[in-house]
Amino acid sequence: MTAMAVRAAVLPAVGAPLEVTGIDLPEPGPGRVRVRLAAAGVCHSDLSLSNGTMRLPVPAVLGHEGAGTVVAAGEGVTHVAPGDGVVLNWAPSCGACPACARGEVWLCAGALDGAAQVHARRADDGTDLYPGLNVAAFAEETVVPASCVLPAPEGVPLADAALLGCAVLTGYGAVHHSARVRPGETVAVFGVGGVGLAALQSARIAGASTIVAVDVSPAKEELARAAGATDYLVASDTTARQIRALTGKEGVDVAVECVGRATTIRTAWESTRRGGRTTVVGIGGKDQQVTFNALEIFHWGRTLSGCVYGNSDPARDLPVLAGHIRAGRLDPGALVTERIALDGIPAAFDNMLAGKGGRALVVF
Ligand SMILES: [Zn+2]
Ligand SMILES: [Zn+2]
Repeated sequence: MTAMAVRAAVLPAVGAPLEVTGIDLPEPGPGRVRVRLAAAGVCHSDLSLSNGTMRLPVPAVLGHEGAGTVVAAGEGVTHVAPGDGVVLNWAPSCGACPACARGEVWLCAGALDGAAQVHARRADDGTDLYPGLNVAAFAEETVVPASCVLPAPEGVPLADAALLGCAVLTGYGAVHHSARVRPGETVAVFGVGGVGLAALQSARIAGASTIVAVDVSPAKEELARAAGATDYLVASDTTARQIRALTGKEGVDVAVECVGRATTIRTAWESTRRGGRTTVVGIGGKDQQVTFNALEIFHWGRTLSGCVYGNSDPARDLPVLAGHIRAGRLDPGALVTERIALDGIPAAFDNMLAGKGGRALVVF
C-alpha cells in the first residue's frame, strides 16, 4: 500500500449513505493499471447498488463511468502506458467463455469477477474495499485490471470520454445494436436521463423520422429536444394512445425503455406498431412483474428484448462513437446537467430518485 491516500466515495453498507473518505490503493501488480480520474458520471446503477436493487460485495467504492490518465502500469500491460488517456470499461470480457466465443462480449460470464476482489483499503481503519462494478471510479485514483481500460479516443476531452463508458455506449447500442433502428423509422424513448438522452441522439444518427421522448418530468423537454426528440410527452395513463396518435394511429417502429419499471415496459410495448420492437435498457427489481396475455402476444407480433450494456463491444464501438463525436453528430457533454465534486454524489442520487436532471458528472 502506498503512503498517500486518495479521496473516494465509499458505500459502507447497502442502504447506508456514501462517505467521502481517504482510501489506500496498492501499486498496480502484473496486468493492472493505476488511473487518475478526470471525470466520472453518476449512473442509476450506482444508486441501484447503494440501495440494494443490484447486489455486489460491500463496502465498495462505487462509480463505473469514467475516464482519466494512466499514472502507472503493472508488468505485462502493453496496450496503454503512463500518460495515456483512458476510458474505464466496467464490463471487461474474458475472451474464453461461450458468450465471448459467440462474439457477445457484453454477456461475458466473467464480466463481474473483479467486483468480488478487494482493490483498496480505507485509510482510517484499514477495512477492505471492493470496486463496485469493477472500476471504482468515484475516487481521485483507482487501480483496475488492464482489461478495464481502453485508450481514450483522440480529439475527445476526457470529461466527454467519461460518459462513453456507460451512458453513451448503452444508449447508442440500444438503438444501433439491439433495436437496429433504420432510416425513416419512428422511435419512442422512455426516460430522459443519461442513457435516454444518448438513445435520443443515437436515434437521430440512425435517421429516425419521428423521435418521441417520454418522461415523468415536464422539465426535461428542452434537453430532450436538443438531443433529437421531435415530440415530447409527459408520462400518463394515455401515453401509448398519444404515441399512436403521433404515428398515424400505428404506433412507433421501435420503443427504447430506459427506466426499468413494469408499467413503463408495458407502455413501451403498447406504444409500438404490430410487429414493432421494444428494447428494455432500464434495470428494474425482481418485484417489477410485467404481464402479457397469450392472445395479445400473438395478435401484435411484437418483439421485446433485453439489452445489456447496449449489446456493445467497447473495443469495437468506442472508435465508432468517437467518429460521431468528431463529426458533431454525437455530443456526450449534452447529457450532463450538473458538474459536481465527490461530496455532491449523495445529492445527485437524491435527484435521480426524484427523476430530476440528466447526468451528474463528477469532475476531479
Ligand atoms: Zn451505468
Ligand atoms: Zn467471456
